[in-house]
Amino acid sequence: MTFREKNGYSTKLNGNSAASHQRSLKPKKPGWEYAESPESKDHIIINSKYDLFINGKAVKTGKYFSTVNPANEEKLSEIAYASAGDVDKAVNAAEKAYRNTWSRLSPKERAKYIFRIARIMQEKARELAVIESMDGGKPIKESKSVDIPLAIAHFFYYAGWADKLKFAFPGRQFSSIGVVGQIIPWNFPLLMAAWKIAPALACGNTVVIKSAETTPLTLYKLAEIIQEAGVPDGVVNIISGAGDTGAAIVNNPKVKKIAFTGSTEVGKLIMRSIAGTDKKVTLELGGKAANIIFEDAPIDQAVEGIVNGIYFNQGHVCCAGSRLLVQESIKNTVIKKLKYRLNSLRLGDPLDKNTDIGAINSRQQLDKITELVESGIEEGCTIYQPECKLPSKGYWFKPTFFTNVAQSNRIAGEEIFGPVLSVLTFRTPKEAIEKANNTQYGLSAGIWSDKGSKIFKMVNQVKAGVIWANTYNKFNPASPFGGYKESGFGREGGIQGLKEYLNF
Ligand code: NAP
Ligand code: MG
Repeated sequence: MTFREKNGYSTKLNGNSAASHQRSLKPKKPGWEYAESPESKDHIIINSKYDLFINGKAVKTGKYFSTVNPANEEKLSEIAYASAGDVDKAVNAAEKAYRNTWSRLSPKERAKYIFRIARIMQEKARELAVIESMDGGKPIKESKSVDIPLAIAHFFYYAGWADKLKFAFPGRQFSSIGVVGQIIPWNFPLLMAAWKIAPALACGNTVVIKSAETTPLTLYKLAEIIQEAGVPDGVVNIISGAGDTGAAIVNNPKVKKIAFTGSTEVGKLIMRSIAGTDKKVTLELGGKAANIIFEDAPIDQAVEGIVNGIYFNQGHVCCAGSRLLVQESIKNTVIKKLKYRLNSLRLGDPLDKNTDIGAINSRQQLDKITELVESGIEEGCTIYQPECKLPSKGYWFKPTFFTNVAQSNRIAGEEIFGPVLSVLTFRTPKEAIEKANNTQYGLSAGIWSDKGSKIFKMVNQVKAGVIWANTYNKFNPASPFGGYKESGFGREGGIQGLKEYLNF
């Protein structure tokens, strides 16, 4: 039996819905199964087709592509594919809106519109959450309690700053930039859009934003909200397409700043394209974070932190704690508890409120995860996966961890962007720091210890933009986020995030 067969990865369609396939990964005890608890879809509206949102209007284009629900491979909608000409239209609309409207409004007026967007999003939070889970495969409990509330919080937060910029940067002269081009990935679509649009508008810029290919729907819902909020035409233009659409945004001379979140590979391409221009740029790229557990850590909480760090959103998280560094003296205890915990995770229908692990975002991503996991097996690492049968339709991958991992193994070095953890050990804090920093990335890290002084020593030596202590994956709009090394540069969130959208 090949690894692919063992993992239940099958391309066969058998007509079963994901809902009827939710599985507890725990060995079955008769009479103690969870009842299904599906989130209602009755209240949501997904159009059969979405045109581009340019200059406040739906704009048709020559080509459309499908977006599917990765949990059942069903088509959700037809999505406009913006050509370079469409990108020009969007940029021209943004440029005109910048010149004639947005830059002329008082900051207080701009704030009103951003607050309105936040409030309408709140009213539509349930619909946004359901659509986010349908389009991207993430568990509804995550989209409901993390993605959507955090996206709204970013609009509220930056609405508050819009008329207080001079207090953010006292004594300094600054001005808005103009048209900002924004390109986002598929793992947190609406949240990434909020991280980008809210500070850009607060600083007086106008926007052309491109969604990722597999998850365009909540951005088009946001377009409806922006219209409902009465935001002047052309201030926010929302488009969709593939890599060439993104490249057309990057190369448009009227775009004065690029804000990109995505892979390091594409980040490098963007840097090459804009070399020699005066475009500003921020790059939020990949990661391979160390989650470091010391022997004096609260072990049960740390195990929860490991689970949250790597299995949240199926591991499709740039700051995922994908390298566990556990102190040797507690390795066996941690592994035992981790196995127990993995067996209690529930994998299946993303719209079921009890689901912990949803669908992998796309077939392409599933192939990438499978290939890297196979490389781990071939290189002699020991795989652990809980017993469970995966739904036969859709894209799924069991929560997985590897022991016997060397730093030179591919799974320890490359970003898998899936629910796959590599377990490594260390004996001393010095060794932990060396191993944590032995990566081309530098986005995030976690440190678990009972000793505050040890935590402070570690955070000063681990090279990562965000370091959580005795917790993981905690976000707040007031807190800046961003990387070092090949994880990119620039910060999003907080006052630091405003700075990226102003000329000084
Ligand atoms: P990706 O392939 O780099 O794509 C990101 C976005 O760029 C997508 O909208 C993509 O369009 C577009 N794109 C592709 N080629 C382009 C080009 N040549 N020029 C301009 N735009 C182009 O990344 P992904 O696979 O969607 O996302 C996963 C990556 O994002 C991971 O590496 C993850 O770590 C990173 N990420 C980082 C952060 C952070 O804050 N640091 C947050 C989330 C994710 P298509 O969708 O059409 O390909
Ligand atoms: Mg989709």
